[in-house]
Amino acid sequence: MSPTSTPPVASESSSAQPAPTRAFEKLSPVTGESQGTFTITDEAGVDAAVRRARAAFPAWRDLGLQGRIEVLNRLQPVLLEHCESFARRISEDTGKPLQESIITELLAIWLYHDYNRKHAARVLGRRKVKTPIVFAGKQSYIEYFPRGVVGVISPWNYPLQLAVAPMLAALIGGNTVVLKPSEVTPLTGLLAEELFKRVGLPEGVVEVVHGDGSTGAALTRSDIDMVFFTGSVATGRKVMAAAAERPIPCELELGGKDAFIVCADANLERAARAAVWGGLVNCGQTCISVERIFVVDSVHDRFVQLVREVVESLRQGGPEEFADVGPMIFARQLSTVERHIADAKERGAEILTGGARLERPGHFFPPTLLSGVTPDMAIYREETFGPVLPVIRVTDENEAIRLANEHQYGLNGSVWTRDIQKGLRLASRLECGQASVNDVINTTGHPGLPFGGVKSSGIGRYHGEDGLRAFMHTKGIMVDRGLLSNEPTWFPYGEAKLSSVVSLAKGVIGGSLPRTIGAFIKLLRGSGSDAKRS
Ligand code: NDP
Repeated sequence: MSPTSTPPVASESSSAQPAPTRAFEKLSPVTGESQGTFTITDEAGVDAAVRRARAAFPAWRDLGLQGRIEVLNRLQPVLLEHCESFARRISEDTGKPLQESIITELLAIWLYHDYNRKHAARVLGRRKVKTPIVFAGKQSYIEYFPRGVVGVISPWNYPLQLAVAPMLAALIGGNTVVLKPSEVTPLTGLLAEELFKRVGLPEGVVEVVHGDGSTGAALTRSDIDMVFFTGSVATGRKVMAAAAERPIPCELELGGKDAFIVCADANLERAARAAVWGGLVNCGQTCISVERIFVVDSVHDRFVQLVREVVESLRQGGPEEFADVGPMIFARQLSTVERHIADAKERGAEILTGGARLERPGHFFPPTLLSGVTPDMAIYREETFGPVLPVIRVTDENEAIRLANEHQYGLNGSVWTRDIQKGLRLASRLECGQASVNDVINTTGHPGLPFGGVKSSGIGRYHGEDGLRAFMHTKGIMVDRGLLSNEPTWFPYGEAKLSSVVSLAKGVIGGSLPRTIGAFIKLLRGSGSDAKRS
């Protein structure tokens, strides 16, 4: 893939790909002007990239954890030198404010790597586990080894972070990676490729296949050993079906409809600012965006008024205008927002501010606050993924928790109360992968917390310990010193042995240590004569 602007760093691997046959044009979300034409990697190109990644796998695996950490640590000087210019390129591609490109894309990937390099030896190293008494005399271990070639398919909303974060965890464990970035943000797809080239990974350890959905589908059919997918539920189903054909492990990070529950005793001003930031950061195109705001009746009107004041104080514009809220990244997503708002209006919701796209080039939709939202509305049932804050009035927090959990999605959620113990109790009752008390979005930035969803929000976890292990096979190992020529429970069987086995089983099940030890000794003594018979 090559754009008319911002060429990728030249490499043998990209020049070795077969000539692509199709192309698409990318338009700026800020100006609507063309940002270049990009070619699409076809199935043969994808297969060739996977072959290169497979060829690179043994040497990368055998480099060992410390060797891989040393290579990946070169991310630090690259990010330090190019922080502002990389942020500008991401913002040019997506329209998001520069501050967000720095914090949620570049700083985020450094935090994940920093966590990985400090904890990988402990998390991925061989560890001893207890051995049950029935296996007395043996030692048991768990260890991990890389899966091989991991296919990573990433979306357009956080196009660098959501591509690079899983890649870093896969790479440190010894896997090689083939990335398929989203066609909606091809400039950042090129940036991800450039980033790893600047880090100086050995040839083939990271391959990037640019293109559209057909490229992603080809990757899921190719000779990969695992697929890690972030995107919509609809595509996630296809990815899982393709993975089932092989079969290979498949991790899915899908959509959300996160609940934001405001209790009567909340710090209302903080909660209002949080709802606005959590719902509008990245122009609402965040999988853990605030998508359903449940407010207890007694504070509903005051809270809505505070939210309205904050929303109306925001400035919207492109990255060069230093605005708070940018344009939407993807034109098609803007149509979803318009459909949801029209449906909500028709079914009785009130639009308190915003509500119609701006008369300017690009994909600008203003921050929009709706009250009177009810479960029959599309804006309640479906992921909106735009700059919209739907408010639902509830009688109390129990109703809010019930409604939050009745939904098909379960990605993240938050509870707002001055009573921390109550907040923790409510957060524990939320059926989702992450939850906060008096905070929003930040759980995903904490590199040590597992991230992922329940129900339609996905399968699997990444970030933290779970994230490091997600890209590994787990192996259980048991060691016996090998001194006995036969084990007491091996052949031959017999009546006397059966009576000792019954005693052993009852000792273990009944939790009686003396009975267990007694039966075990009897078995050990008997094993010599049994061995003679055999
Ligand atoms: P899509 O599902 O449309 O696309 C995701 C990726 O899959 C893109 O790279 C896309 O390529 C590719 N793709 C498309 N068709 C196929 C196919 N048949 N086989 C394999 N890959 C394919 O999602 P979006 O990019 O629109 O992302 C938005 C969605 O992602 C939202 O629902 C959001 O909630 C979710 N998301 C989830 C996150 C999480 O961590 N849980 C985080 C961020 C977003 P192309 O774009 O080139 O068509």
